Amino acid sequence: MQNPAQPPHYITMHDSDNVAIVANNGGLPAGTVFASGLALREHVPQGHKVALTDLAEGSVVRRYNVPIGYAQKYIPAGSWVHERLLKMPEARELDNLPIATVKPTPLPPLEGYTFEGFRNPDGSVGTRNILAITQTVQCVAGVTDFAVARIKAELLPKFPNVDDVVALEHGYGCGVAIDAPDAIVPIRTLRNISLNPNFGGEVMLVSLGCEKLQPERLMPPGTIALVDERNVADVGVNADSKLDVVCLQDDAHVGFMSMVESIMRQAEEHLERLNARRRETVPASELVVGVQCGGSDAFSGVTANPAVGFCTDLLVRAGASVMFSETTEVRDGIDQLTSRATTPEVAQAMIREMAWYDAYLQRGSVDRSANTTPGNKKGGLSNIVEKAMGSIVKSGTAPISGVLAPGEKLRQKGLTYAATPASDFICGTLQLAAGMNLHVFTTGRGTPYGLAQVPVIKVATRSDLARRWHDLMDVNAGTIADGSATIEEVGWELFRLMLDVASGRKKTWAEQWKLHNSLVLFNPAPVT
Ligand code: CA
Repeated sequence: MQNPAQPPHYITMHDSDNVAIVANNGGLPAGTVFASGLALREHVPQGHKVALTDLAEGSVVRRYNVPIGYAQKYIPAGSWVHERLLKMPEARELDNLPIATVKPTPLPPLEGYTFEGFRNPDGSVGTRNILAITQTVQCVAGVTDFAVARIKAELLPKFPNVDDVVALEHGYGCGVAIDAPDAIVPIRTLRNISLNPNFGGEVMLVSLGCEKLQPERLMPPGTIALVDERNVADVGVNADSKLDVVCLQDDAHVGFMSMVESIMRQAEEHLERLNARRRETVPASELVVGVQCGGSDAFSGVTANPAVGFCTDLLVRAGASVMFSETTEVRDGIDQLTSRATTPEVAQAMIREMAWYDAYLQRGSVDRSANTTPGNKKGGLSNIVEKAMGSIVKSGTAPISGVLAPGEKLRQKGLTYAATPASDFICGTLQLAAGMNLHVFTTGRGTPYGLAQVPVIKVATRSDLARRWHDLMDVNAGTIADGSATIEEVGWELFRLMLDVASGRKKTWAEQWKLHNSLVLFNPAPVT
């Protein structure tokens, strides 16, 4: 909790910065004098920027040692530097970028950390044991929901090792241009979500019958068995295994209850196999962590995201997989990212994804500045450049060794840039498809975000949020701004909590309250 008697305090991210943010809860009034001698000329809200020096009209306003804007007029030292005083820099072009120029000293391996997970036949590891029911089309959502309610009430109590039954509801499947090139994005997203490690390889589908996205198109023969080609021969997965589909328009169904009972009958077979799963000790390298932020404020890039970045480095050192995403929030730092790529191919793949997204935004007559929300600005983030610098720190310092296009499945360890929109729900949905088994979400303004498919650990950027939302936030990184903890300490706290949550020893608040956001597919293709 914030100490009301805390002396006036501002936070600078880099020695070259000419603005800092006010850390004190409630902001600080005009006339406040800091230890440095700087005096506030006006009230500055918490998380908002104060000019450390006189800024001439047109001069660079620098934070994180990068230009986050240009002064629209003369700004004397001690002024509140809000968005209306800043002109945003142009987006960095995608040519002549530094490619794989940073050769960091390799991080020392981190050994001996484990968690209790569910090992799958394909080698992946689940952190929860869930029956997921895949749907080919939105039309079947109501019937599936009805069946899931009965499965939970009548069947689940017989299978105590199964954590939950989840319908993978979505808005896709028909009324869409399914042969458009970009339709591959929502289709592979749905396919790969069904194969998430938390579902144990037990794929069952509910289909309507007449929809465009036919079961065989969603799950072509061999998809399930070939989750990981390397392991097929070893573990003897049956490559001919028939797809398990309940088709509502099937002639065999007479009446609604016949459909419901058919879903329940199929579900029971999968529940029996899932119930036989047991947790076993596995190395921390089996974690597949997706990080993202939502409801960001100026503290996101000062407290929570740097702590997540430190934890990202710990995970990479432990041999785990970490994905960072949110294209519009990292676009302005593209030169930092391409220079951190391990190879020119990785850098080029990053540029390809950014260029694709630039063109996508252009088709809608917007640019990356459409990202910032009213709440971001109220929280002190003037524009997307400032937000991007605070967002990228979630990726830590490790080399970037992989790139995923939206909806693709992750097949490697280390730090990967998984290209997704920044939209919380779409980013989470695409990271699920990539195979994440643990989700980390930082927030400053506060959001109760959660997913039914994987545990979501939420990290608050400010102590005030952590205090008010004490039963929604799992980690308080506001202690970094208060001066009562370091970035490293909060990073380690998060790392240890991850192992506990992954093991099922601890539940996140979102799990406790069953706060489940919808799957939201990214469909860049036309609807019809
Ligand atoms: Ca987000």
